[in-house]
Amino acid sequence: MEIVLATRNKKKVEEIRRILREEEMTLLTLDSFPSCPEVEEDADSFEGNARRKALAVAQCTGKAAAADDSGLEVDALGGAPGVLSARYAGAGADDGANRGKLLRALEPVPAEKRGARFVCCIVLAFPGGECVSFSGTVEGTIGREEKGGKGFGYDPLFYPAGHSRTFAEMEPEEKDALSHRKRALEKLGAYFRGSAAG
Ligand code: IMP
Repeated sequence: MEIVLATRNKKKVEEIRRILREEEMTLLTLDSFPSCPEVEEDADSFEGNARRKALAVAQCTGKAAAADDSGLEVDALGGAPGVLSARYAGAGADDGANRGKLLRALEPVPAEKRGARFVCCIVLAFPGGECVSFSGTVEGTIGREEKGGKGFGYDPLFYPAGHSRTFAEMEPEEKDALSHRKRALEKLGAYFRGSAAG
């Protein structure tokens, strides 16, 4: 089966390809469909945004499309930055600016209150409008300074629970084994295997 990945984020495409490499599916990217429009990510939930992106790409390409929406929820900030993770420091902000804002917001927060989680929701949409959702989370804490140069986004600040290294200090495969995206993609893979068998 062919699926179009409804994201232009190359790091995410790399992670998704790595995690799904054993599955019997052909992953296409938006590079093959340059005329697909950008979708505004202005829903108030990860699922709402993923659904919008997946449906738009399924309708534009006429093929099944999978979209991921993900972000970081920080307990001491009432779940922020949440769906605004990519634009936490403002429209067009880069990852470094977003991390800087997060560190400043958490400056007065003690270690035991720095809990957070990455959340990923993947929606698979079909050209007829049917959608199926899969979600995954990974719990952890936010550090006091950036550590590590791998990964992307908030990885240099995020210590997955039970680990003393950030996601950015881990090899890609170590991060994958723990990540929110892996957990959601595993459910997508199981759905495909179930559909293929049934
Ligand atoms: P979106 O899903 O493209 O809307 O953006 C998600 C944003 O959440 C990214 O820009 C990152 O800032 C953050 N994020 C999501 N997943 C990860 C991850 O695995 N590591 C680090 N940051 C992430």
